[in-house]
Amino acid sequence: MPLAQFSIYSPQDFQKYILNTSFTRQITMIQNHHTWEPDYRSITAANGEMYWLEAMRSFHIHNNGWSDIGQNITSFPSGNIGLCRPIDITPAGIFGANKGAICIENLGNFDAGHDIMTQAHKDTIVFVNALLCIKFNLSPVKEQVVYHHWFDKTGKRFSDDKVNNNLVGDEQKTCPGIAFFGTNTIASAEINFFPSIKNKIGQLSGSPLQSPGLKIVKADVLNVRSGPGTSFPVLRTITRNTQVRVFTTLDGWSKISNTADDWVYSALLT
Ligand SMILES: [Zn+2]
Repeated sequence: MPLAQFSIYSPQDFQKYILNTSFTRQITMIQNHHTWEPDYRSITAANGEMYWLEAMRSFHIHNNGWSDIGQNITSFPSGNIGLCRPIDITPAGIFGANKGAICIENLGNFDAGHDIMTQAHKDTIVFVNALLCIKFNLSPVKEQVVYHHWFDKTGKRFSDDKVNNNLVGDEQKTCPGIAFFGTNTIASAEINFFPSIKNKIGQLSGSPLQSPGLKIVKADVLNVRSGPGTSFPVLRTITRNTQVRVFTTLDGWSKISNTADDWVYSALLT
């Protein structure tokens, strides 16, 4: 397979690309990482954003033995967004937990005492997570928007308790950084990161009342199935007040993805 062709987008152009492109891979999780190296000091006039995408690719191929650059997306301190490994190709992000995932590498070292995230970078990280949630019908919840730090080296999740009480220790990297939007615990993501993504989703989606096809989940937990009926397997669940976009309906069931077979029972939407 040829190597990925890199593109660097402004947030607006990235939005156009994502919303106007059809993807075939089923996406169930967005991973957030930091690169650690390169960090903010690495980006200079001589060695700009494209240089570092190529440098990371070279490292991933020659040092890690991967087929191409590991991540699907790189976010930069400028607020720009690099499209790397194609979205339809499984990334190398969290060993053992890459199936169905999109891997975002946020360029910088966000461990305490290192890079101070720029406002443009913060905005872009929230924006990219929100946009991917809208595109793939995901929500900013700990099951679907994740940090590398929450998974052990086999791809299994640590218990919430272990992550939240800083008991992970040397079993895993601190990625995406001890100072990433507060800190790298699940509790911190729920307080400092997810609400910003949720706000941004609201802004990007507009008012549900003004946008035909948008519905709100009114059950506590709603099963997403692979077809229009209870005989189809449950793929995942979504929770009350999650906004979904209905693309088509059949026999009392609603299809909530334009790329994947994701169906929910229409009576549980409002
Ligand atoms: Zn990582």
